[in-house]
Amino acid sequence: MNILLLGAGGREHALAWKMAASPLTDRLYCAPGNAGIAHEAELVALDIADHAAVIAFCEAKAVDFVVVGLEAPLCAGIVDDLEGARFKTFGPSKSAARLEGSKGFTKDLCRANNIPTAAYERFSAAGPARDYARKQGAPIVIKADGLAAGKGVVVAQSLAEAEAAIDMMFGGGLGAAGAEVVVEEFLAGEEASFFALCDGETAIPLGSAQDHKRVGDGDTGPNTGGMGAYSPAPVMTEEMTARTMDEIVRPTLRAMKQMGAPYKGVLFAGLMITAAGPKLIEFNVRFGDPETQVLMLRLMSDLVPALVASRDGQLKNFDLRWYPEAALTVVMATKGYPGDYGKGSVIEGLDAAAQVEGVEIFHAGTKVDGGRIVANGGRVLNVSALGKTVGEAQARAYRAVDLIRWPQGFCRRDIGWQAVKRERGA
Ligand code: AMP
Repeated sequence: MNILLLGAGGREHALAWKMAASPLTDRLYCAPGNAGIAHEAELVALDIADHAAVIAFCEAKAVDFVVVGLEAPLCAGIVDDLEGARFKTFGPSKSAARLEGSKGFTKDLCRANNIPTAAYERFSAAGPARDYARKQGAPIVIKADGLAAGKGVVVAQSLAEAEAAIDMMFGGGLGAAGAEVVVEEFLAGEEASFFALCDGETAIPLGSAQDHKRVGDGDTGPNTGGMGAYSPAPVMTEEMTARTMDEIVRPTLRAMKQMGAPYKGVLFAGLMITAAGPKLIEFNVRFGDPETQVLMLRLMSDLVPALVASRDGQLKNFDLRWYPEAALTVVMATKGYPGDYGKGSVIEGLDAAAQVEGVEIFHAGTKVDGGRIVANGGRVLNVSALGKTVGEAQARAYRAVDLIRWPQGFCRRDIGWQAVKRERGA
């Protein structure tokens, strides 16, 4: 098969690495890609917001299958457009992608189908939203309805903070994404990311992970896109996985099918594991970043037939195999991230680092400049490793990190600390 992958981050590098290893893959293209992905795929300079250009490329290169990595083109209907031009595409249609594109849509779907989630109300004006927040009291969570590149959620510890968030969103601080707002109950518990592969009717578990969102050691400092992750998530026991499939994933699939928007692709459930069981925080309609980097290391089966079966509605008799090891990834970012940061600093030592046992380095934001690898974004490298335990994977990943010479970069030194603490206690 000729396959086109859309995206440019560490998630796409991990997907490309796995798909390039498939005997089914003839040629693998990636648009726009990065310096690491260039080892697995031919990079294509396509503007992926230009669906007509993507279709023209598929025609010119006889592409058999398209895999969409990121949410924006999914919410913009790229699957509908590619399928309309008869190109098989992995991912949800525009109407199914509302599970990520509109928080209000997902909350209403949960309410109508008894899917456990935080109590909430939707608002289209600041006054009533403030009144509701005041009635509920802090802590309380304020969410912009639309896609806001990870900036649309404020967990307010005080009413003043809640009201400021409501005013910021309705004041246009997040553009169109904040024209509607969800105000919801604060959930206490342990967070986990859970992934299921779906074909419109059937869902199969794709594993679990936990990530570290804060920039600093000890989970301190501002939120980021994710500074590291490990898989599996210890809280996602067999029982919790079964409950998540029965109480959240399968009812969602049934409801989407009933409303004529069957869900195909990977469904990423952000969960809070509460005293009462798993509750849905949010859905994403694509693989997680950096969670995919650890999931792909643990996946023994060929990824390509699984993605094709999702597209073709053939997951019913499908089975995936996993390595028993744990996987962990450390994000290396440019100093300054998640605030302002420079671009173009030179990164050395990657070859030696990649030699550490069990280690795989995925590139998140790099490019080649004059034959050298340079940083080209905030999150730049995902230094990932397998190990018999999370502790072993962690030790291997940091051994590799310490071989990378990049003075302008930094990383957290404690990725996986909760799981390692659990392992030491056990
Ligand atoms: P989201 O973008 O919806 O995943 O929210 C970002 C982060 O905000 C989550 O990963 C949680 O840490 C936190 N969060 C969101 N909703 C809630 C909630 N209802 N209760 C507690 N924390 C939440």
